[in-house]
Amino acid sequence: MELFLRNLRNLWFLFAKAEQLRLIGFLELMRALPRTVSPRLLAREPVQRCDFPRCGGACCVYGVWVDLQEIAAIRQAAALIQPHLPADARSLPWFQEREEPDPHALSGRVRQTTVLPRAEHPLGQACVFWRPQDAKCALQVAAEAQGWHPWRLKPFYCILHPLDLDEQGRITLDDTSALLTTPGSCLRPAAEPQPLVQIFAPELRWFLGETAFRRLLAAAQAEE
Ligand code: SF4
Repeated sequence: MELFLRNLRNLWFLFAKAEQLRLIGFLELMRALPRTVSPRLLAREPVQRCDFPRCGGACCVYGVWVDLQEIAAIRQAAALIQPHLPADARSLPWFQEREEPDPHALSGRVRQTTVLPRAEHPLGQACVFWRPQDAKCALQVAAEAQGWHPWRLKPFYCILHPLDLDEQGRITLDDTSALLTTPGSCLRPAAEPQPLVQIFAPELRWFLGETAFRRLLAAAQAEE
C-alpha cells in the first residue's frame, strides 16, 4: 500500500510538472506567432533606451494588460514566482477582475495586473510584480532563478514596451516626441539618430527570430 501511494504521488508530481511545462511552453508559443513589423521601424531617431536600474522601473507604474492564456501560464508557475515577490504582495490577487477585449491577444481577452501604492517607485505606484528592493520584475527574477531566459515568464506587452502594435497588429513605435515626454515611456533623447531596429534589437530578435530580424536589419541599413 505504501509503495502504491508513493508511486501515485510520483505520478501526480510528474503530471503536475508536465502541465506546468506545457503552460509555460504556451508562453513561448505565443511569442513565436508570426509577427510583422511596421515600416516605421526602418527609421532613424535621436533616442536611446531607458537606463535601468536608474529609471527605477518607471514603466511598471500602471501594471500591464495580460492575455488570459498568459495569466493561466503565470499562475501555473506561481510556486516559482511567489518567493521573489515583495512580502506584502504574496497574498494579493495578481490580476484585476475586469476583462477587456484585445484583438491582438491570442485569447482575444486581457486583464490588467494589480497596481499597488509604492512610495519607493518613482511615480508612487507600481505593478504587483514590481519589487521595491531592486526595482526588478518578480516574473523576470523567477525565470532567471530557474536558469531560463529572463523574459520567459514575462507578459507579452512588458517585453514589447516601449514598442507597440499598430491597428494591423504590426510592431511599431509611437511618435518619439510624445514618448520622450511621457513618464515611464522607457525612452531618452540621444545625441545622434540611430536605426530603431538596432535600438530594439533584443525585443525584435525575441519576437521575430534571428532570420527575420537579420532581414529587417538589412532593410534598415539599405534605407540609410
Ligand atoms: S509584469 Fe513585471 S515588467 Fe510587467 S509591469 Fe509588472 S513588474 Fe513591470
